[in-house]
Amino acid sequence: SDTLLRVEDLKIYYPVAGSGFGKKEFVKAVDGVTFEVKKGEVFGIVGESGCGKSTLGRGVCKLENLTSGHVYLDGEDITEYNDRRMRSIRKKVQMVFQNPYASLNPRMSVFDIIAEPLLVHHLYQDKADLEKKVLDLLHRVGLDDYHANRYPHEFSGGQRQRIGIARALAVEPSLIIADEPVSALDVSIQAQVLNLLNELKHDLDLTYIFVAHDLSVVEYISDRVGVMYLGNFVEVGEKDKIYSNPMHPYTQALLSAVPVPDPTAKRERILLEGSIPSAHKPPTGCKFHTRCPKCMECCKTQVPERYEVDDGHYVYCHLYDKERREQQK
Ligand code: SF4
Ligand code: MG
Repeated sequence: SDTLLRVEDLKIYYPVAGSGFGKKEFVKAVDGVTFEVKKGEVFGIVGESGCGKSTLGRGVCKLENLTSGHVYLDGEDITEYNDRRMRSIRKKVQMVFQNPYASLNPRMSVFDIIAEPLLVHHLYQDKADLEKKVLDLLHRVGLDDYHANRYPHEFSGGQRQRIGIARALAVEPSLIIADEPVSALDVSIQAQVLNLLNELKHDLDLTYIFVAHDLSVVEYISDRVGVMYLGNFVEVGEKDKIYSNPMHPYTQALLSAVPVPDPTAKRERILLEGSIPSAHKPPTGCKFHTRCPKCMECCKTQVPERYEVDDGHYVYCHLYDKERREQQK
């Protein structure tokens, strides 16, 4: 099968602190999410801060407790795997984080940082082999032998991200989940790191889930995109379709704020009222209804289903319910 990852109706709820009396209350960070990632593709997850995209990314590799639903990796249901069984999965799925500095031990040399996963998973034969592997990884990410003996504080942000990527690659994963990997970097450096990720993907047959709030970055790197709002996807599909023909009112509003290179193709800016409601008490019906310029009466009470508006292009919005549209004619 060409599906590497399948996520089915995944929910990740956190108990709200201090809600222990009688009724427990929850933050619904991820609230019933379904999607697939095909081998070799980049699946971008985009949304504003607090929409649950990072939690979803972490949930996929079980760095979060899953409330319900299923995660299948290479056809294997890993939802219920305990820590011991997850250890073999950790070799297949690696994360790259937004802030590489926080995830690199400042007391360890770059050599030791990259060697650590190789040591933990016994992925080397002898000392010479270990050294060769670490240096190969350094070269892969565009660093040199002499960088091996230095410490994280001696590097720039972009170089630190390269070190984080080298460490993730050490175990030869098939899936990399990158959570805002370039958002802490200067724009000029962002492109370099994105290009590196692209190169590595082709050279090493990698698959990525790329989580970010920046629509342009997601457009640049992704093959398919899922747009998240308050713990759910509102629209999923091929990147080109989503960016050239957004169907969900939320996606339309988000994209209307992105500057287009061709000034004659000026899009009308759609301004949304209010801010994102809390994931603790999300709106009923369509969660976007409190801010949607196209809100109808039914949106306030009924949760929209998933409608396939074009091959593999899914929209969660009552506007695309054929029967409802027939009735309103
Ligand atoms: Fe707007 Fe209704 Fe569609 Fe939700 S379901 S996005 S409120 S039109
Ligand atoms: Mg985040």
